[in-house]
Amino acid sequence: MKRAPVNRIIPFSNVDGPGNRTSIFFQGCTFHCLFCHNPETIHLCNNCGKCVGTCPVSALSMEDGKVIWDMNRCVTCDACIKTCENFASPRVRWMSVPEVMGEIRRTAPYIGGITTSGGECTIYHEFLTELYAEVQKLGLTALIDSNGSLDFSRHPELLAVADGVMLDVKAVTPEWNDYLISHSRDLVLKNLDYLLAAGKLQEVRTIIFPDREEENAATVRYVAEHIKDKCPYKIIRYRPFGVREHEQDILGHMTTEEEEAERFANLARNLGATRAFVV
Ligand code: SF4
Ligand code: SF4
Repeated sequence: MKRAPVNRIIPFSNVDGPGNRTSIFFQGCTFHCLFCHNPETIHLCNNCGKCVGTCPVSALSMEDGKVIWDMNRCVTCDACIKTCENFASPRVRWMSVPEVMGEIRRTAPYIGGITTSGGECTIYHEFLTELYAEVQKLGLTALIDSNGSLDFSRHPELLAVADGVMLDVKAVTPEWNDYLISHSRDLVLKNLDYLLAAGKLQEVRTIIFPDREEENAATVRYVAEHIKDKCPYKIIRYRPFGVREHEQDILGHMTTEEEEAERFANLARNLGATRAFVV
């Protein structure tokens, strides 16, 4: 039976797509963004064992060279995550589709749908395809929160059971993209066009960084001119909260002012992306 590493399941979320949703966060990412707010989801645990002794309630142990996490003992103090130098977490459950569905069924009467996120959930696209097919049977919607690193044009089976993709377009100028993401932007931009044409673009998101006028403007301009009024465009203020200290030292410790973000939302709206808004 297929299993995928689940970092956490939030039963009720109103920030991961429209309405009330159950959000499922998978472990592992294809990017390593400088500003990542969930850096502990980037890699899979390599069982080095360094975090085991830091757990104040003995929720972690080693068995046959593998880290075992006892979720019933865990007090979610994050001591293990702060110790890990591998951008990983020992608090991961390798779950099957029926096990994830078991959790979704508990919240199903109170939600409009589910959203899968990460890390990058599309690493596990075969798992998602099975999961979404089951979710559809409950009459719920299924959304993909993605960094755009999966070539969606090659996975029609996934899009056939997904209601839409919430796509991050983080940077379009090559230098800014390389600085922020260390991964080619070409596939992300191809996905933007493909998902738009396929009617599967649920929303686009761009983070606005303080004092990065040119870089912010280039990204906002590109996205706005592509999407126009076809889908919402979420303009997100950069906030250092959750970003690791070393990365904060590089990027800065300032939160983007609301006024600055609003200026870019206005730019987007003036270019035809009438559904641009700031969060
Ligand atoms: S979570 Fe990190 S520190 Fe802990 S065992 Fe895994 S890789 Fe090592
Ligand atoms: S988050 Fe849980 S597993 Fe990690 S150190 Fe704290 S109690 Fe232990």
